[in-house]
Formats: sequence, structure tokens, C-alpha cells
Amino acid sequence: MQQINALQELLETPKKIMITTHHKPDADALGSSLGLAGYLKKKGHQVQVITPSDYPSFLNWMSGNEDVLVYSSKTDAQAQAVIKEAEVIFCLDFSALSRINELGRYIAQATGTKVLIDHHLQPEDFADIMFSDTNAAATAEIVFEVIRDLGDESLIDVAIGECLYAGIMTDTGSFRHASTTRNVHMIIADLIHTGVDICKVHRNIYDSYSETRLRFLGYVLKDKLQVVREYNTAYIAVTAEELKAYNSQTGDTEGLVNFALSIEGVRFAALFVDRSEAVKISFRSVGDISVNEFARNHFSGGGHKNAAGGISYVSLNETVEKFVSLLPLYKEQLVN
Ligand code: 5GP
Ligand code: MN
Repeated sequence: MQQINALQELLETPKKIMITTHHKPDADALGSSLGLAGYLKKKGHQVQVITPSDYPSFLNWMSGNEDVLVYSSKTDAQAQAVIKEAEVIFCLDFSALSRINELGRYIAQATGTKVLIDHHLQPEDFADIMFSDTNAAATAEIVFEVIRDLGDESLIDVAIGECLYAGIMTDTGSFRHASTTRNVHMIIADLIHTGVDICKVHRNIYDSYSETRLRFLGYVLKDKLQVVREYNTAYIAVTAEELKAYNSQTGDTEGLVNFALSIEGVRFAALFVDRSEAVKISFRSVGDISVNEFARNHFSGGGHKNAAGGISYVSLNETVEKFVSLLPLYKEQLVN
């Protein structure tokens, strides 16, 4: 309540606002940012969304996408100017400034009031106003609640609603994860009432594969999936050459890790992708196995209990070897 009052006061007069989200934004990161941006624009604020990197083309349908500033060395000066001038800086769907690359340094030095809206574990204490709910299914869920608690639910139109719906849909794994509460379904009911076309959002995000992406998926499942039955674990490691051979685009590896987890009996899954600068890792688990802890302890990462990410600066092979060698330490949780 205190946080809502502080935000209400902050937004009482038109402000210059910057919104940012995590590296390689997913549907919740971009959807919550664009949903919030749409709302704030309706309230008369001047809003600029800046992403720390590019994002998958299957998110380009979102309203406001055309106005997003994607950070790169080319847009550095423009991004710095926006951050410097911003009176309010919203940080959405990440809990540590290290997750937004160079933008993190600029925001740490910025004078604007910082507002965090997020659902990741272990939030850092860098914001002036914090809406951090680690039990929330998605940042988009919290954005919906913040707008509602500001008394403005009626301003959530179809365009804003579809952005928020996309974030909740993807972060709940299409309403199947344990985070899918009654509250989530109540919010979804409200969004459908507003006129959100859920079939359109599902198709835009899940049924928009390029032909090469689908063939890449086929190749990976046939030739690259490794199952370690002894530890109820499955993993996939993709080399830089394979990415190149399939002309892999941002977002093309999204969802791969879930196939590994979908094998009967598998409780722990990992995806290793050899990006040129480092090996990027996705972890997923079921039940009590905390991949947040695993990623934090061994791969400089974090996230949620059942979905987390990490990074490794040794080779792909060495990274996979390290991962496999750690499994016996977790035998108790993985097997019993
Ligand atoms: P994904 O595997 O889909 O990239 O990420 C799963 C979850 O973990 C997301 O909530 C994402 O924000 C978080 N995550 C991914 N990579 C990292 C990382 O390197 N560090 C931290 N702290 N979180 C991450
Ligand atoms: Mn999220």
C-alpha cells in the first residue's frame, strides 16, 4: 500500500519515464514493459522503453514494439541521454542491475526515481519503490495489479491487455506451472473480458516458427538430446557451428529446454548454447529441486526455483563436463 501511494504521488504530474527489462527479453519482460508503457502513455507521460539487447521476432506484434530502443554500441549515446533525462526509471522482470549489461551502470548513476517491478528471487536493493513478489507468476501479473491498485484498471485496453496476457501465458508455461494461482486466472478472466484475443496471442508466440527453426528443433531432438537416466536428468548442448548451420535467430532456442524436461521421469533439464562470448545456460526442474540455487552456486546465475539461467566462460564441452560431474552431489534430490 505504501509503495502504491508513493508511485501514485510520483505519477501525479506528467513525467519523462524510461522503462527497461532484462537481457534478451522474453514475452514477460517485453510484454510487461510494453503493457506498462501503453498505460503510462495513456496517463499523459512521455515514455521510452529501452531493451539491453534484441529480442525474438515472435514478440514484434506487441503494441509499442516499433518505438522500443534496442541498446547496442550504435544506440549507446541515445540510450544514455534518455536515462540521464528520465525522471522515473522502471526496471521490469529482473532483480539485479548486472542483468542489463551496460544499462545497469548508467541506471546506477541516474538521478531519476527507480521503480522495480519483478518476481525473481533475491532482489537487489537498488530501487526507491519496489514491487517485488517472488510468488507472482509473471511480472505482467504484478503490472496488472499495480495499474488496478492505482485505480486505473479501466485504462487496460486490448493492446495493453494482450502484452500482459502474453507475459502471464509464457511465464506460467501456458497455465501449467505451480505459479498458476486463482489470482492468475482471475486476472486472465478480466483480460478476456476486456477483449484480449487469446488465440491470436498463442499463435503469434507459439505457432510462428520459421521453417529452419522447426528443422533445427527436429535435429536437436534427434541428435543432441542426452538423457542421464541414473540422475533423472536430460540436457542439450548446441554448438556455435550448429547455430550457424540452421541460421539461428534470437529466440530460436527458446523452449528447447522444456522438451528435455518433458521426458517421463526427468526432473532436471539443462540447455547449453555456445554463444560466441560465453556459454549461456537454461535450467528447468520439477518439484522441490531448486535450479535457482544450482545456477547461483555453480554457474553465476539465478532466476526462479524451477526456471533459472546461468553463464559459463569455459568451452561448451568443459561446461557440460562440469554439469555432469555435479549431478552426483544432487543424487538425493534427483533420485528419491
Ligand atoms: P531462461 O532459461 O528462459 O533464459 O531463463 C529462465 C529464468 O532465469 C528467467 O526468469 C530469467 O530471467 C532467469 N535468468 C536467465 N539467465 C539468468 C542469469 O544469467 N542470471 C540470473 N540471475 N537470472 C537468469
Ligand atoms: Mn518473468
